[in-house]
Order: sequence, then structure tokens, then C-alpha cells
Amino acid sequence: MTSSVRRVGVLALQGDFREHLSVLNELGAHTVEVRVPHDLESVDALIVPGGESTTIGRLATLYGMIEPLRKHIKHGMPTLGTCAGMIFLASRVTDGDQPLIGALEASVERNAFGRQNESFEVDIPVKGLGDPVRAVFIRAPLIEEVGDGVEVLARHRGRPVFVRQANVMATSFHPELTEDRRIHQMLLDSLEAG
Ligand code: GLN
Repeated sequence: MTSSVRRVGVLALQGDFREHLSVLNELGAHTVEVRVPHDLESVDALIVPGGESTTIGRLATLYGMIEPLRKHIKHGMPTLGTCAGMIFLASRVTDGDQPLIGALEASVERNAFGRQNESFEVDIPVKGLGDPVRAVFIRAPLIEEVGDGVEVLARHRGRPVFVRQANVMATSFHPELTEDRRIHQMLLDSLEAG
């Protein structure tokens, strides 16, 4: 049974937040573009989109969003970060220095696939989902190391590319760029469960 419609925010500072908004609308969620701390008060869950994590970090700092994001995520708000969003949620970036939320115990290497292999698509099996997911990687980060509390839901060439730690999920790839809605649905399902 579906209970009341939940409000899902998408951090709309930079990147492909519109694609996430349209997936969420398609799934029947009420959506909110999140830019300033006040916007966070009205959402039950959050997506941090792909884009450029250094820019997202810089704008989040400018808009006073770093601490409010940390607080809401720490208090259990279901959160999904994709690509740059995964980097921004992580606790450490191995190849740079930039503002991070630190909600996901993981060391991330930005642009880990290098210039030769900037963008590619591959089908990967995901724990708990049946058919493999078509994963679109665009200048994607790779997770180098995860903390004890982090569950790896999918790997590519042995490296984690989809992880979950309590209320935080993160993908190196872009689920919003395919027709497959299962990963967004996981976020909405976690709201129903909570
Ligand atoms: N490489 C980008 C970064 O460092 C992420 C790319 C993406 O989100 N598609 O933020």
C-alpha cells in the first residue's frame, strides 16, 4: 500500500538535477529543488546529482549548505548520491582537496577511469535486484576503500560502484540517464520502510 506522497529533494546547485527531478516525478514523488538550508526542512529524502563535485562543493559552501546537509543526513534522511554526488557525500577524495559532506565512509578517486575511458556503459548485477542494471559511467569516480559500515551492492572490475551505508546510497554511475527506475525506486522504498 502506498502511504502519503513523500517529498524528495534534489540538490539543485549544479549538474544534472533536472534528470533526477523528472525520474522522481515519473515515479509519483513530490519533488523539491534544494538550494538553501530552508529547502531541506521540507524534504523526506534527498538526491545529490552528478555534475562537477568541486563546483557542487563550492556552491554548497557559499549557500551555507554543508552543515545543514551533514545534520539532516546524520539524522537519517534517506540520501542517494550519483557520480559527483557520490564524491561529495564521501569522507575522502584521494586526488584532490574539496569540500565534502563525509556522510559515507569511503575514499574516492575522482576521474578514476582516466581520459582513455571517460564514458562507457556496462551491465552490472546489483545485490537485491534481479536483472543487471545498465550503468552509464561519465568521467566516473571509483571507490578505493570503504569503512566497516559500508555495504557494497555492485562492483565493476572488482571495484565498488554502488554502495550503501545506513540511510546513504551512492553510485559511481548515472541511473537517471537510463529508463531503468529501480535505483530511484530503492530510495523511495527506503522512505516507505522508514
Ligand atoms: N568527475 C566528476 C567530478 O569530479 C564527476 C563526473 C560526473 O558526475 N559525471 O565531480
